[in-house]
Amino acid sequence: MSACGRTRAELLRVAADGPGVDPELARHARECPDCAAALAELDGRWADVRAAADERPAAPAGLADRVIDALRGVRGTPGTYHGVDDGVRVADRVVVLVARRLAADAAAGLGHVRAVRADGDTLHIGLAVRWGVAADTLAERVRSAVLTGVATQVGPVVSAVDVQVVDVLPPSIG
Ligand SMILES: [Zn+2]
Repeated sequence: MSACGRTRAELLRVAADGPGVDPELARHARECPDCAAALAELDGRWADVRAAADERPAAPAGLADRVIDALRGVRGTPGTYHGVDDGVRVADRVVVLVARRLAADAAAGLGHVRAVRADGDTLHIGLAVRWGVAADTLAERVRSAVLTGVATQVGPVVSAVDVQVVDVLPPSIG
């Protein structure tokens, strides 16, 4: 505590959050040599913390692509249609939503569907597999369920389904 009775804790608050948190003390510290010295020291230390807080952490590699894929998976590509019959076309969004539902059913309890994207007549599915599950077996099950399911429910719009295992889910607790 300084001679004027101000505590280090009070001064730390001013150093950390700025003079706005306690304008009276900030004013006092400009004239009181004890408080001014203490505040200058605290402020110097706090500058490092502020600098660290301002530094933006870098996103993991591939995160932006995965987020974009996930969004596309929900929306499909606007303006893109698949011909199912003479004069009948189905929006890409519908194919993607049906594929997503089929993939989720096929993977239920064993994994999660992270992304579904149509690229022409090929569907790309990103799959997260639960720890301990045979990834290749699950991927094949999802691939075949989506291929036949889309053909049955939508029509002959997809000629290939490409399943990629993109993540592993931690084992569930309990
Ligand atoms: Zn003081």
